[in-house]
Amino acid sequence: MARIAYVNGRYGPISAARVSVEDRGFQFADGVYEVLKLIRGRLVDADRHLARLRRSLGELRIEPPCSDAALQRVVKETITRNGLGNALIYIQVSRGTAPRNHPFPAAAKPTLVVTLRRLNLPGATELEKGTKIITLLDERWGRCDIKSTGLLPNVLAKQAAQEAGCREAWLYDAAASDDPVITEGSSTNAWIVDENGVLRTHPTGSAILGGVTRSVVLELAVAAGVKVEQRAFTLGELRRAREAFLTSATSLVLPVTTIDGHPVANGMPGETTRRLMADYAAHCGI
Ligand code: PMP
Repeated sequence: MARIAYVNGRYGPISAARVSVEDRGFQFADGVYEVLKLIRGRLVDADRHLARLRRSLGELRIEPPCSDAALQRVVKETITRNGLGNALIYIQVSRGTAPRNHPFPAAAKPTLVVTLRRLNLPGATELEKGTKIITLLDERWGRCDIKSTGLLPNVLAKQAAQEAGCREAWLYDAAASDDPVITEGSSTNAWIVDENGVLRTHPTGSAILGGVTRSVVLELAVAAGVKVEQRAFTLGELRRAREAFLTSATSLVLPVTTIDGHPVANGMPGETTRRLMADYAAHCGI
């Protein structure tokens, strides 16, 4: 079945889907996006994703292209037309099309694109043995809480991770510091169980994207009786951690067992990580 995309009110084959070269998403990365997953025909945490989209749009003063209810209808129709039960759904909204000029155009209509692709969850070996990451300087802008399509530093970090044979790069915030703080991954949130047994992740704010998976896992941790704090950890604390894992809608809860070539603790996923992996999988209906 040909993949079907939605672009500004029209459904059609993705190979024929087009936006203008004067679209501000293309010219300036003047846009935002969301990524949701569909598991066995059910959208996971759709309300949280749509709330974050609305917030990102609001922070950039981009007019929402339609109501949340209308957007849900477009997403559902795109799912139906693609005939997938398990999928990743990309919603992209730019400020619209206008002759190239930096200030906001007076009368541009936002561009809305919805596309789907097959969902590739982490495989059994990676879930059982954990994954490898590198650490890198965080070179992003000061508003990482906005899910902007301006992802060049994230792209460069992910490419560096891939070239090092790793899944992800975790970013630290200050090259000059002896013991810099880890903010998050290039497309994931970062977690450790520290040397005192406390589960920690960076607090929300402008330094990280508030992951939807992160917010769910925080609730699952509390429900499981895990001692959890939204408190940043440093590179040194990461190296001494008992456990580490990353989260995102596409990676789920994934153990991190090698950091910059060194094993985390004994090099195997820890107990808290395993518990949260299972609880999050159940939450998603996997
Ligand atoms: N941080 C960044 C920079 C991301 O791009 C993502 C993926 N959207 C996340 C964290 C995880 O967010 P979520 O759990 O909503 O997928």
